Amino acid sequence: MKAAVYEGQETIVVRDVPDPVLEDGEVLLKIEACCVCGSDRRTYRHGHASIPPPRVLGHEFCGTVVESRAADHVDIKVGDRVVMYIVMPCGACQPCREGKVNICLTRKTMAYHFDGGYAEYTKIPAVAVSAGSLVKVESDTPSPHMALSEPTGCAINAHGHLKIGLKDTVAVFGAGPVGIIHAVLARLQGAQKVFMLAHPGSRLTGAEAFDVDACVAVTDDGSHKEEIMRLTGGAGCSVVISACNSAQAQIDAVEIAARSGRIEYFGGLPKSNPTAALNTNLLHYKEITVTGSFSEKMSDFQAAVALIQSGRFPADKLVTHMLPLDRMTEAFDLMDAGACLKPCIDPRL
Ligand SMILES: [Zn+2]
Ligand SMILES: [Zn+2]
Repeated sequence: MKAAVYEGQETIVVRDVPDPVLEDGEVLLKIEACCVCGSDRRTYRHGHASIPPPRVLGHEFCGTVVESRAADHVDIKVGDRVVMYIVMPCGACQPCREGKVNICLTRKTMAYHFDGGYAEYTKIPAVAVSAGSLVKVESDTPSPHMALSEPTGCAINAHGHLKIGLKDTVAVFGAGPVGIIHAVLARLQGAQKVFMLAHPGSRLTGAEAFDVDACVAVTDDGSHKEEIMRLTGGAGCSVVISACNSAQAQIDAVEIAARSGRIEYFGGLPKSNPTAALNTNLLHYKEITVTGSFSEKMSDFQAAVALIQSGRFPADKLVTHMLPLDRMTEAFDLMDAGACLKPCIDPRL
């Protein structure tokens, strides 16, 4: 079969690899869509300490079961179209015992510890199949849209901290696909106002196509903070989500947060410089709560799968480019140029 093999920094080679052979408990998927994640771009451009090459990347996939040696208790059969909850937790560490399997101390992850979805076929590990990690698609929602279940579940995990409701005014830093997913979730949960903040350019302009109240250009002189205060009648936003890798956004979040506001730092800063100098007096006097989040729990993933199938999620506007496997690195160029939201690979093209 054909696979896009990550062989090291700036090197992904599309070549023939041996067809996967199933062991007991495993399932073989024919991949129909695999969305490209910002983390794939980072691994390709800079390497990744936890992903020694060679490895087939791609953890946001949807495919059809073409062969199954699943255990008897697993309700998965040939012909089922599925998406995968990619976390394989140990089940025994303290976070796992508390139900926080996403922050398991020794978790294994699809496309990190096992080959992922940038290939014609992908073998699903027995431990994941047995745990019910393959979730059936019960509608005719297109596979590229279903592939958004993984990143959407991560955003839903973060929203579990924020508990957005009818009274909330929400600001999101970052107009990439993840920022837009956060804005969409805020709106669906009843937020009164949703603002997007990002550097001026095509992505910020593109964000206007989604159901947001204002798209505010981030400027070096900080005028975007004044604009948010003006838009909120001087109160600031009750919820601020940083969905970009900018320390300045994390710093600004503290300033534009309202009294008693909640701030979520979604996604990290570059590992070479992961520090942001916050005015912590603002946390103190405004009684601000700051949370972080990583990955997702099975319940978040299931909620994402249901949401995308509900038709209330703008997946069609989020997946902007379809590419065949042998042109997959073009996705990284599009991402670098800010010229796409989600590129998606279809190995059948
Ligand atoms: Zn991802
Ligand atoms: Zn664990």
